Amino acid sequence: MEQPSTTPHIAIVPSPGMGHLIPFTEFAKRLVHRHTFSVTFVIPNDGSPSKAQRSLLDSLPPSITYVFLPPVSLPPETTHIGAIIALTLLRRLVESTRLVTLVADLFGTDTFDVAQEFNVSPFLFIPNTAMCLSLFLHLPALDEAVSCEYGDLPEPVKLPGCIPLHGRDLLDPVQDRHSDAYKGVLYHARRYKMAEGILLNSFQELEPRAIEYLKGEEPGKPPVYPVGPLANMEQSSKSDSSECLQWLDEQPKCSALYVSFGSGGTLSYNQTQELALGLEMSEHRFLWVVRTPNDKAADAAYLTADSQNEPFEFLPEGFLERTKGRGLVVPSWAPQAQVLAHSSTGGFITHCGWNSTLESMLSGVPLIVWPLFAEQRMNALMLTQDVKVALMPRANAESGLVGREEIARAVKGLMEGEEGSWVRNRMMELKDAAAKVLGDDGSSTTALSELALKWKAKLV
Ligand code: UDP
Repeated sequence: MEQPSTTPHIAIVPSPGMGHLIPFTEFAKRLVHRHTFSVTFVIPNDGSPSKAQRSLLDSLPPSITYVFLPPVSLPPETTHIGAIIALTLLRRLVESTRLVTLVADLFGTDTFDVAQEFNVSPFLFIPNTAMCLSLFLHLPALDEAVSCEYGDLPEPVKLPGCIPLHGRDLLDPVQDRHSDAYKGVLYHARRYKMAEGILLNSFQELEPRAIEYLKGEEPGKPPVYPVGPLANMEQSSKSDSSECLQWLDEQPKCSALYVSFGSGGTLSYNQTQELALGLEMSEHRFLWVVRTPNDKAADAAYLTADSQNEPFEFLPEGFLERTKGRGLVVPSWAPQAQVLAHSSTGGFITHCGWNSTLESMLSGVPLIVWPLFAEQRMNALMLTQDVKVALMPRANAESGLVGREEIARAVKGLMEGEEGSWVRNRMMELKDAAAKVLGDDGSSTTALSELALKWKAKLV
């Protein structure tokens, strides 16, 4: 039989989406560079791996390898087949490496049974906030205590150390308690106590009270290790990156608002129109990553366009000409981390994906929050009401749209108002705090070192 290498090895089972792969690969890089582990990613597959997934994984150092599990037809949170396939792969890893730990994503707790079978320590990695983890840990009790839909609760849900949250603002999968998505989340949340520890992509200064609670000992709650912010600030672009960065080079310091809704977020046709007109009304400079609207209303306008010559036909007539020079509109993708780190970028309209949020924080760029799905409403509320690094425009109660005047007001508020200057200063404080926790003696670095020692001790 092949002799296992002497390097301690870690198996990581992430969710396949880019929003999850990014922090997991950053985590793996730290384990390899600072603590001389080797790592194998075992990745559930919800279709063919995308170009972005492949290019991220192919850019990793040689001691980090990956394998995609064969595709399954159900979403990863409701399927257990991943665990069955992972069993074969993990058996192979146990035979050929010094496997000490298995780290699973929030929907990957089935692999904990496999880890236990091989005497490998199961750990959980939550690529989101302490607030999110708190909700997951409380979900089993909440499920027993509450009989209606959470959205119909008359009182807000109070998670320890977090702002009160109305049920309708909790993450999407828990909004329908009869759905498979909810049952899946609940199933995994009940199994979190099987983990020997939980890693968190957050840090003490960002969520002090929630983290303090999570770090406290409580029967059935695994120890929690905040190791964030884990973000890839050197990511490369999918398309023409130089256009964005060159345009920013020509803008005054801190003058441009960056507008983007993550790796796949889209708006309706009517909302896209309002956003365009709001940006125009604000009279500020902007760099907007625009995607084709997600609804039928777009078809009529879009289909009449010669999409080669007029790729932005769904934008208001004359918008591009009127904003020429002070606005740059790019299709589908921008090199976001570099855009946020550029000295001309002074604000960010974001859907509040957690990676986007952390990237903005690492660059000290304040936010206008525009949550779309998943746990983004929770993030948006925390960022505005608790952390206070963001402004939130309100949607019109009747149309559900954020109107152009409201958008212009928020942009002006962020870029030139007193409130904007307040949240900008607060974001700069967090930028400094983030740099500190990631420094040699910082709390996130120390937490990871503590874990690395613990995992290595299993080899002795
Ligand atoms: N991203 C990017 N360019 C874009 C849009 C997104 O580089 O035009 C990157 C962004 O920097 C972040 C990730 O894609 O690292 C998006 O992750 P996030 O958690 O913010 O949102 P998700 O895409 O998962 O909704």
